[in-house]
Amino acid sequence: MKISQEKKHVAVFVFPFGSHPVPLLNLVLKLAHATTNNLQFSFIGTEHSNKPLLSKPHLPDNIKFYSVSDGVPEGHVLGNHPIERVNLFLEAGPENLQKGIDMAVAETKERVTCIIADAFKCANNSDTNTPLDFIPGLSKMRVEDLPEDVINSGSEEETLFSKTLASLGSVLPQAEEVVVNFFVELDPTSLVHDMRSKLKCFLYVGFLTLSLPLPPLPPSDTDATGCLSWLDHKKKKNGGSVAYVSFGTVVTPPPHEIVAVAEALEASGFPFLWSLKEHLKDLLPRGFLERTSENGKVVAWAPQTEVLGHGSVGVFVTHCGCNSVFENMCNGVPMVCRPFFGDHGLTGRMVEDVWEIGVRVEGGVFTKDGLVKCLRLVLVEEKGKRMKENALKVKKTVLDAAGPQGKAAQDFKTLVEVVT
Ligand code: UDP
Repeated sequence: MKISQEKKHVAVFVFPFGSHPVPLLNLVLKLAHATTNNLQFSFIGTEHSNKPLLSKPHLPDNIKFYSVSDGVPEGHVLGNHPIERVNLFLEAGPENLQKGIDMAVAETKERVTCIIADAFKCANNSDTNTPLDFIPGLSKMRVEDLPEDVINSGSEEETLFSKTLASLGSVLPQAEEVVVNFFVELDPTSLVHDMRSKLKCFLYVGFLTLSLPLPPLPPSDTDATGCLSWLDHKKKKNGGSVAYVSFGTVVTPPPHEIVAVAEALEASGFPFLWSLKEHLKDLLPRGFLERTSENGKVVAWAPQTEVLGHGSVGVFVTHCGCNSVFENMCNGVPMVCRPFFGDHGLTGRMVEDVWEIGVRVEGGVFTKDGLVKCLRLVLVEEKGKRMKENALKVKKTVLDAAGPQGKAAQDFKTLVEVVT
């Protein structure tokens, strides 16, 4: 095969779970727009992770998608834990990724000159209450906030995923660049210095799921599930006291917690908008939807960024998925956090103890009384007012950081130089 030496060919490896693929594709789109057509991108995911991305409008011709196997053996019935899928994918990983590269090279006739791969930042220790003060800037974090797969690394419960996470510590310093989906202005300075001393090049390119400043809210009649017009109506009646509840795309809270959330929303009397997957509606207490139909709205999917930007939302009850938290930070809404797994714990701790823009639920799980207490704290009490003020300050920091004077624009330029 004749391989052209002129074009640059970037292979992009996706972590094909949850909302990981979207920010990575957005980074590639930004790179594609900032560079010439002389750069070819091969976006390598699974059929399942690529499918929703292909419907994105205005995908440039120099981004091509390739699907490799998800590693789930034929006929295998998956259990409920999302990590099972991850481990199966990782088992098939090395062979799969080579296949992805082979496919991309065969079709484009360009050898790969650069690899961009999704990765995780992590650290390890054993006692769950130990503060992470051995990492500069993370003294407020505890070992228990780390993803369980990081804590389990080296233990009997070690999985392929936890081994992979542990090995990242030694691999990342070899990367030409480590790029984070975050703003340097929001991270503790000592953490940034420490990471920069350990990595060849550490770049912060801002929130990749959002174009900032956010566009004005669309007219509410274009909103298929009626969330925005419902919020318009609530604003007139209740001001900014709607609780918006969502647990993202992956988490399925246990049935007793769904019931606790429903009971708390009903008992608190605050208006609420709940994005709840269709199949979980059956778990709601009998008569809940009818009894709360005046005060509440339950939908299978909400236009989340717009909802958070609607002035009537006073609190966001969240699982602390990073995209949800980022979308929220751009809109200045205080949070009630119920972290489930992965990076949720660290994010929840940042929200409560570092940025002071929210509160984690007592005991780490939803109970009726615990959630009512949190909702009142944020929406009624003095402490909640301070959280709102802090949330507005964070919003301003984010909007400034995303502007032309912010560091993300400079770091993105550096990334473009290396990739090209
Ligand atoms: N989302 C949404 N509407 C919903 C629920 C979720 O638009 O009703 C979006 C949300 O805006 C976010 C993403 O789904 O961009 C969830 O990502 P996150 O990182 O918060 O959680 P994950 O799904 O990865 O657990």
